[in-house]
Amino acid sequence: MTNRQEFIPISNPALVGNELKYVTDCVQSSWISSVGTYVQRFEEAFAEFCGTEHAVTCSNGTTALHLALLALGVRPGDEVIVPTLTYVATANAVVYCGARPVFVDSESETWNMDPAHIEALITPRTKGIIVVHLFGHPVDMDPIMDIARRHGLFVLEDAAEAHGAEYKGRPVGSIGDVATFSFFGNKIITTGEGGMVTTNDRALADEVRRLKNHGMDPQRKYWFPTVGYNYRLTNVASAIGLAQLEKIDWHLEQRQQIASWYREFLADVPGLTWQAEKEWARHVWWLFTVVMDRDTPLGRFDTLAELKARGVEGRQIVYPIHQLPPYQDLAYDGRFPVAERIVDRGLHLPTWSGLTREQVRHVCNSLVECTNAARAERTPAAV
Ligand SMILES: *Cc1c(COP(=O)(O)O)cnc(C)c1O
Repeated sequence: MTNRQEFIPISNPALVGNELKYVTDCVQSSWISSVGTYVQRFEEAFAEFCGTEHAVTCSNGTTALHLALLALGVRPGDEVIVPTLTYVATANAVVYCGARPVFVDSESETWNMDPAHIEALITPRTKGIIVVHLFGHPVDMDPIMDIARRHGLFVLEDAAEAHGAEYKGRPVGSIGDVATFSFFGNKIITTGEGGMVTTNDRALADEVRRLKNHGMDPQRKYWFPTVGYNYRLTNVASAIGLAQLEKIDWHLEQRQQIASWYREFLADVPGLTWQAEKEWARHVWWLFTVVMDRDTPLGRFDTLAELKARGVEGRQIVYPIHQLPPYQDLAYDGRFPVAERIVDRGLHLPTWSGLTREQVRHVCNSLVECTNAARAERTPAAV
């Protein structure tokens, strides 16, 4: 039985492998800054995990996006096509380069960027497309790669939420020209704060390495041919990352199991749907997410409050980026109905390695209970 007083958080990092041992090694050896063997070991292991030739660590998933876009040659005046339903960092990184994000609506099953809308948005200024494997479900890459090839555009995979996801048997991070990952505390594996850029393009990887290290010429010490950045990851964070990566199969199995419990317990609940898992996809379930029908009596914020009262932390889905002040434009009105509906009626539920079947059952019971209570209140009792 779940203790009713127990609080079930939305995310919770599981540091159950060699994390402490490797961090202790960093401290005892005094290699705690951004030089040290764990940086290289983490990069090599991550490249192998993604099936790419190169993987470059950096300070977080946002700087990974910024570095990748700079290395791809995105400059002021360029346009980059991005989904509106994603974390704001995806669009912000485009703006850091002086370029303009051009938003695309979601498709209604996986909630990922709808490939059918992309071609109409391409202009002479378009440089590329950022796809986001949303909440751990891979994007349908074939049609997008096809559009990109025909128009000479790059494809960047923002895989911040999708470590280990697969598209038709291929790991995300290895399909586009370049990909980025985040290791923030609530992601599938974490380094506290951290990021990675993966690619098979050697020149691109070298440029990312140069830019993240102040732009220093690797052949000529303290020579800076362009303005660069300090976006390096520390050896301590890399040590945690390596330990997390060693156990990633376990983390992914846990999430698969949790998602199947959610689907089992919610199967017969009327008015609820959740993100699809397409037959060509390995979904890694970053956050199990439900969408309530329009006629569900409680809105998302009321439902979150009711869940909280029952010891369950849910989370709203992020606002679609086209609604945020820096990106608002009247021309967007009504253009993103699918993303707006998902966000309006959507809720993330607790999803983390170590969550038990009883806890998932408690989350589902709580959700059903508060919806039913609101429905009973609203419907006058039959005479
Ligand atoms: C988390 C996230 C990021 C940003 O990663 P940080 O490490 O927090 O900077 C970027 N894109 C997506 C889709 C994310 O979920």
